[in-house]
Amino acid sequence: MTAKIIDGKKIAAEIRASVKRETVLLKEKGITPGLAVVLVGDDPASKVYVGQKEKGCLEAGFASFLHKLPGTATQKELLALIDQLNGDGAVHGILVQLPLPPQIDPDTILAAIKPEKDVDGFHPVNMGRLVAGLPASEPCTPKGIMRLLKSTGIPLAGKNAVIVGRSNIVGKPVALMLLAESATVTVCHSKTEDLAGHVRRADILVAAVGRPRFITADMVKEGAVVIDVGINRLDEGLVGDVDFGPASEKASWITPVPGGVGPMTIAMLLENTLEQAKKLVK
Ligand code: NDP
Repeated sequence: MTAKIIDGKKIAAEIRASVKRETVLLKEKGITPGLAVVLVGDDPASKVYVGQKEKGCLEAGFASFLHKLPGTATQKELLALIDQLNGDGAVHGILVQLPLPPQIDPDTILAAIKPEKDVDGFHPVNMGRLVAGLPASEPCTPKGIMRLLKSTGIPLAGKNAVIVGRSNIVGKPVALMLLAESATVTVCHSKTEDLAGHVRRADILVAAVGRPRFITADMVKEGAVVIDVGINRLDEGLVGDVDFGPASEKASWITPVPGGVGPMTIAMLLENTLEQAKKLVK
């Protein structure tokens, strides 16, 4: 079997175009969706991510508010900024770019964002709502992964879904979202025994490990849908957590790296911000 490609770039572009169309309508009602992005310090990768988010906002017709604090900023200073953004009516979404410098506790910061403005979906209230199956601001990368899975048209209910990786930003929320779709979910991590055995049973496989080509073709079940979240920078360029070429010969659907999950994250961030702004329409 040669896998069909799940084209995240194309799907993300369609979502962005739809967000842009809805933004035009919202602006006619006097509401401009606004996203505040907070960058602390000058981590090069963070700067790139923040730049992409700002560009995405402007393309969608949003107001973009970039707040840069020096790497020496204190937790108190950052909390004061968040407090100000929480109360700012022009700001519908607040995103604090991680990682933060060591003097600042990320959990304290994420918990200080108003849950309604938490467009990254990392606030404990939104995480809790996700666990309880209640409507929540959902974390962007997992939400994007679910969109990619749904784009294949393959029913998820009853399928064996295996997620490799249990981080709060990818693995755990994806597990909850797949469970909400009635998949039978297994979450693997660094202490998992017989990881290959678990992965081989996966009808739906989500790899979020951060190790280049960690999932080899012999671990992929014939006909599986494979979502590769990994972004690994090698001299040859970006590669995923899945050995793409050989795995494509066994999977029915697969995401490439780059051009799979990556482009979905910002599209979902824009969608989450738009959703928050739309709630203000009387
Ligand atoms: P983390 O480092 O937070 O988590 C990695 C997970 O992989 C952990 O749960 C860890 O297990 C598990 N793991 C590590 N080594 C092994 C192993 N040998 N066997 C089994 N499990 C293992 O990473 P993230 O979840 O933040 O990110 C994962 C990947 O996804 C990265 O490449 C990252 O760059 C990418 N990513 C891409 C995004 C996008 O496309 N927009 C967004 C976010 C992430 P344990 O918990 O036991 O340590």
